[in-house]
Amino acid sequence: MEITVNELIDRCRTVGLRRTKALEQLLSTLLESPRPMTLAELAESPLLADQCDKATVFRLLQRLENHGIVRRLGLHERAAYFTLLLHGRHHDYLICTRCGSIEPVKAACPVHALEEEIRKTTGYRDLYHELEFFGTCPTCA
Ligand SMILES: [Zn+2]
Ligand SMILES: [Zn+2]
Repeated sequence: MEITVNELIDRCRTVGLRRTKALEQLLSTLLESPRPMTLAELAESPLLADQCDKATVFRLLQRLENHGIVRRLGLHERAAYFTLLLHGRHHDYLICTRCGSIEPVKAACPVHALEEEIRKTTGYRDLYHELEFFGTCPTCA
């Protein structure tokens, strides 16, 4: 199921975020990106560069993160990546602890069977997970 920017904006409005051009452009950029993006990449991306400064992008990201719309990945502030938290579109990631690079795990995710079991035994609904694996990438090794 494809998720549209308008659906994301609806989610934002239900948690009390104001619809602004910057918010719209940020959500579109994250939605179209095939991988998580850093604050710098987002601030310099074509849609956002003319729209607002880095501090504004950061504030928006923080708000989206607080409301569970955006997920922050990575090790620390300087090497943080941001991605949309979407049900049914999860990725598990590999993160290099030296250079901070990030890539999705290409193997089929084995955690879904566990998820199913947790759902049955706990009665939780809308379960999801995202994993982060840490190590040294081939370039840094
Ligand atoms: Zn590395
Ligand atoms: Zn997974």
